[in-house]
Amino acid sequence: MSFHDRGGVFRWPAGYRAAAAFTFDLDAESAILADAPEAAARVSVMSHQAYGPRTGVPRLLQILERRGVRATFFVPGFSAERHPEAVRAIRDAGHEIAHHGYLHEPVTKLDPTEEERVLIRGLEALERVAGVRPIGWRGPNWEMSEATTAILARHGFRYDSSLMDADRPYLLAAGAEAGSPTIIELPIHWGLDDWEQYVYLPGLSGSGLIESPAKVYELWSLELDALAAEGGAFILTNHPFASGRASRAAALERLIEHAQAIEGLWIASLEEIAAHVETLGLEAVHHERPAVPGTGPTPPGTQGGGEER
Ligand SMILES: [Zn+2]
Repeated sequence: MSFHDRGGVFRWPAGYRAAAAFTFDLDAESAILADAPEAAARVSVMSHQAYGPRTGVPRLLQILERRGVRATFFVPGFSAERHPEAVRAIRDAGHEIAHHGYLHEPVTKLDPTEEERVLIRGLEALERVAGVRPIGWRGPNWEMSEATTAILARHGFRYDSSLMDADRPYLLAAGAEAGSPTIIELPIHWGLDDWEQYVYLPGLSGSGLIESPAKVYELWSLELDALAAEGGAFILTNHPFASGRASRAAALERLIEHAQAIEGLWIASLEEIAAHVETLGLEAVHHERPAVPGTGPTPPGTQGGGEER
């Protein structure tokens, strides 16, 4: 239960009591290059990232086909241009392709004009490579600026999946005033992301600890069971360069099988979930900036960006 519920039980489509979505961020090289462009010359580091589209995606597509699951793939424009075959294979398998920046730029490091330019550049790349026009967006590094919601709404996006203050979807407003543009928010969390579990790139990213897929399966299945019991939305984020490796992909398939055995759990892509939520007539929520004593407004482009995501 949360303040987002407004005292009611969240309404899932008839016959369902909770939802789960399996999402993949095709960061490939972009998430590293956004922060460390000099890593472009490090062949091994680039190969670590290219494992995603070259080897992880084919394996994951087989698993999704075997399990009959439609997933959502967030694709930076740069990844689409560098790995067009992987992106077209994702499209041809019937999965949703959504927007994830151009070169995986954290939008908190951009002013609103630059942020919009990057959004358009990513849209153009996805259109050119795969002929798709996404309706969903996920902030690189899961960052969102105070301008993002309005920019997304202006470009016809219908949902975001970057925020962490709920465990079920809600309606997000760009401003506090009535009539402010809105999009659906499909919330995520660091605990449901494979980066923290598996990524080890010395000097560049990751915890330095490579976890066992058995432990990761336990972590995620516990959260899935608890959210399903409460009627929430389990939104899992995986990166093909991380979770596309053999034993990790096998654990993910086991998790999908576990989810499919939960009675009343709706397994859907994020665009399907957003389309359902749009029918609910939810009251919009605006994220007011906390007023910090002794500080003035923060100029755009000076907020922190965090680690790669
Ligand atoms: Zn990412």
